[in-house]
Amino acid sequence: MKIAFYDTKDYDKIWFEKYLPEFGYEVSFFESRLNEKTAVLAAGYDAVCLFVNDDLNKEAVDVLYKNGVRVVLMRCAGYDKVDLKACEGKLTVLRVPSYSPTAVAEYTLAMALSINRKTHRAYVRTRDFNFKINNLMGTTIKGKRVGIIGTGKIGKEAARVFGGVGMEVVGYDMYPDEKSGIKYVSLDELFETSDIISLHCPLTKESKHIIDKDSIAKMKNDAILVNTSRGALIDTKALIDALLEKKFRGVALDVYEEEDEYFFEDKSDEIIDDEELIRLMSFPNVLVTSHQAFFTDESLQAIAEVTLNNLRAYEKGLPLENEVKHK
Ligand code: NAD
Repeated sequence: MKIAFYDTKDYDKIWFEKYLPEFGYEVSFFESRLNEKTAVLAAGYDAVCLFVNDDLNKEAVDVLYKNGVRVVLMRCAGYDKVDLKACEGKLTVLRVPSYSPTAVAEYTLAMALSINRKTHRAYVRTRDFNFKINNLMGTTIKGKRVGIIGTGKIGKEAARVFGGVGMEVVGYDMYPDEKSGIKYVSLDELFETSDIISLHCPLTKESKHIIDKDSIAKMKNDAILVNTSRGALIDTKALIDALLEKKFRGVALDVYEEEDEYFFEDKSDEIIDDEELIRLMSFPNVLVTSHQAFFTDESLQAIAEVTLNNLRAYEKGLPLENEVKHK
């Protein structure tokens, strides 16, 4: 079978190229992201392999289908940019539901610790031989409360790592897992009582802007907010307004509502025209990273292995454990 691989970066190839001889699939690596215009590149291929910011909208689905593509291999867990309804009856969508929840959870803790103890600022200072520590004071987090929103695979790992540094863990989930050992509270209680709030639910109609003006108003003034899930869980404008009013000890974002145009790319020589992104970056208590929470050697290996096994299962007519369908 032939795979058209979109939005390729050098690191994507490392594990795919190792596993490909074993599977015998032919792959063309394209740098372009998938959208309705670039979908035609996949003409004559059986499958497309996509990442988080590829845009599989209805038009792109139609172009792929018309050109013979039948399988979509998401090399990630999230599929919020896939029009599953449009795929129905045309494209089978397979994903990697869990490549390393631990990697994302560990990174979440790293961001929370960094924004609290301001290591990102200390690094810049000492690089310039400025060894003053004023304004770098943090708070001890042992015994404080972390609120985990979304207690699925990543949320549970986040609960474990935050618990590991002595924090009291509470969670909120639309479908609580009573066997998880996590103490569940209402969303309001989580907002009102947490010192760190960490987002781990997927982006859906219900969860879009779960962090907005109203929910921010309920939070402690010195709360730390961490988002390693999806940018649009937070209403960026409301967040900026709150930061301007000196709300939050700090905010750590590995994802951003309008990240598509910027994240994963080098824009250092360009004029950035996203005013909200510029504003966010200007706050000393905001740390922005470029969707890298998943980015470990182990994750990339698991992504390649599961993605290629997904195609093998499709090819051999085996049960498709990792299929996602329109509900
Ligand atoms: P999962 O499906 O195992 O868990 C998601 C949990 O969120 C479930 O328990 C679900 O019931 C809950 N949920 C759904 N809607 C909710 C809502 N409105 N409010 C509260 N809870 C809700 O998913 P996962 O593997 O834990 O991944 C979670 C998310 O993390 C993904 O959807 C993806 O957006 C993000 N992610 C980010 C990175 C990164 O590198 N930054 C990597 C992988 C995944």
